[in-house]
Order: sequence, then C-alpha cells, then structure tokens
Amino acid sequence: MDAFGLPVLSSGPRALDAASLGLTARGDARGQGLFDRFGRSHTYLRISIIEKCNLRCRYCMPEEGVPLLPKGDLLSFEEIERLAALFVRLGVRKIRLTGGEPLVRRGVDDLVARIGRLKPYGLQRLAMTSNALLLRQHLPALRAGGLDAVNLSLDTLRPDRFREITLRDGCEETIAAIRAAATAGFDSVKVNAVVMAGVNDDELVDLARAFALDEPIEVRYIEYMPFEGNHWGERLRMFPAEAIRARLEEQLSLETIGLEETARIYRAREKNGRAFRGRIGIISSMTEPFCATCNRIRLTADGHFRWCLLDEGEIDLRAPMRAGAGDAELTQLIEDGLRAKKPGHAPAEELVALHQGAGHFGRSMIRIGG
Ligand code: SAM
Repeated sequence: MDAFGLPVLSSGPRALDAASLGLTARGDARGQGLFDRFGRSHTYLRISIIEKCNLRCRYCMPEEGVPLLPKGDLLSFEEIERLAALFVRLGVRKIRLTGGEPLVRRGVDDLVARIGRLKPYGLQRLAMTSNALLLRQHLPALRAGGLDAVNLSLDTLRPDRFREITLRDGCEETIAAIRAAATAGFDSVKVNAVVMAGVNDDELVDLARAFALDEPIEVRYIEYMPFEGNHWGERLRMFPAEAIRARLEEQLSLETIGLEETARIYRAREKNGRAFRGRIGIISSMTEPFCATCNRIRLTADGHFRWCLLDEGEIDLRAPMRAGAGDAELTQLIEDGLRAKKPGHAPAEELVALHQGAGHFGRSMIRIGG
C-alpha cells in the first residue's frame, strides 16, 4: 500500500487484469473526485488517444499542420489503461475518448473495451467525441465494448461548406453516421457544431431541424474558442452565445431547462407548436464561462495531464511512468497539477495575446484533445 492507502502497481510489463491495476470492487475508489483549491471535484477525464485527424478543420488545426508526434511519444494502450484505472481509483466517474480523431487510432475498439472493463470498479460512463467519418464501421464494436455516448462534430449540412471548413470531403458520410448512431443503442447522441460568424451562423436552425426535430439527438452550438494558430478574431470570428440564442429564436421557441455540465440546455418547438424530440444546447465557454462548476481534467495523447482546456499548464506523466513511477508518485503529480488550476480561464483576448507571444509554444486544440 502507498501513502494514500492505494495498492501500489508494479511498473514492469504485466497482464492488465483488475488486480494488477489496483482495482478491487465498485466503491473501493478512494475519491469523491480529485479536489482543487477551490473545492471543485474533478470526476470527468477526457483522454486524447491520438493527435492525428482525418479532417483539417481551420478552427482546430494550424494551417501548416502539426508536427507528427515522434514515434514512441504516444501513450500505448497499456499506459492509457493504467492511467485511466488510476484516475478511476482517484474518483473519476466519466471518461471521454477524444483526439485528434479517436477512430483513426488503430485498435480503438479494443481500447474502448479495455476502458469499458473499468465499469465494475467505479467508472460510470464511457463516451467518445468523434467527427463520425469512420464511425459506421465501428458502431457494433464500440457498443459491445461499453461505449455509452457519442458526441459527433458537424458544423454544416452543406458539402461545399464542409470542404471549406474541414478542407476535406465527408459531409454526407458524417450525416449518415450521425443518423446510424441515433439507432445504435447509445444512451446519448449529440451533435457538436462550432459556430463562426459569416461561416455557418445562417445554418443554426437547419442543423437543429436536421437532427433534433425527429430524433432524440441533442444539437449543441459551441462558441468558437481561441487556440494556438487558429486565427481567432481575425480570419475566423466568434458568433457569441447570445447571438446563437437569438438566431434560433427567430424561427423556434426555446424553453430553458438549465445548465448541464458545460451546456445551457433548451427544449425546442417550431412556432406552430410542434415539439422537437431532441434538445438544444449552447456552450458559451467564452462569453458566459462555466469555470465555477468545472469538473474536467485531461490527458493528452503524449501523456501530459492538463487541468484546464484554456490554460497552458500541464504535467508530464509519461516520462515518470516510463521511468518506473508507482501510483503514489503519479497521484502526487496529478494533485500538484490540480493545485495550479485557477478559478477561471483568462478572457478570450488575453488567450489570443498569449498564443501570439514571442517564443510561446502552446498546443493547438487538435493537440490538446477537445
Ligand atoms: N476529431 C474529433 C471531433 O471532431 O469531434 C474529436 C476532437 S475535436 C478537437 C473535439 C471537439 O472540439 C469538436 O467538437 C470540435 O468541433 C471542437 N473544437 C475544435 N476546435 C475548436 C475551437 N477552436 N472552438 C470550439 N470548439 C472547437
């Protein structure tokens, strides 16, 4: 046992059964979540499993691309599984796999099943965020592996616009995959659209009608956030939450349900009274941030722990893990990182200035994992 009363894992190669991951039974996990200095409990871990993507979204990825992660820097499945199990023992109850594009990682179905096996030991929910391009072929295996929910990204219904935004084709396939996901047995399917002024702000009602009118799909509109190299406020401009709401209300009636995690949720109706089956969500990270209730932490594809999407702070867990660190040492690093978490993220303009700072090396969204 280590100083925290956690069974210590051996660091050499081993069979990844529950006992070797230090897991015993549901409820054995020490935590109510990992707490920061402001009393926020972190029960939601987002793991990026790859930096590569099969799209080139202009709002996510710098034009010049991102350097390929040196071979060996990417966490192996065993390493991801070990860290996921440690986080679950520390109180994480929800894990989301993201990227890059998670479905581009070879063997992703196997990874989902491995993490799905943490469910009897405290993990309550396993989700994925994906652009859905490769989703259809994976649906049965992902469901069988224990994936509960998918958030699928689509910013436009128009193929020509899709190409302008993502620099690739695939609009029709994405739409078909979203529809297939809706009947695949997930307990939640959401569509994420990043809204940019003059790019897709005229399609908000169309997106809602396409997915949320007849199907129990939640359509969520996300304020465009600044990241390294994404020309926020210059070539691409934010369309703020208030304007999103107003644009939707030109044609629909919205009834507030409340704040759920990061999204303000609404029930929608056509003006003639016809109710939407799915809900509408608006994510206002920039103009109405929800930092006070943030419960999220992140693990990058190269094994760095991050405590805030919009803060450059991060701590390397991969090097110590590969050097043989036990769980107590990794837990210490995680808790040290969390102590640096600020009460809220900086305003958008400050973030942009930070990214433009001389010699600054930040991570683009694609390298953090959205
Ligand atoms: N490739 C996957 C996908 O497309 O969903 C997962 C990774 S992607 C980085 C995760 C989410 O982040 C997507 O919904 C994407 O639209 C969103 N995203 C990327 N850049 C963003 C930005 N600058 N502002 C707001 N959301 C962004």
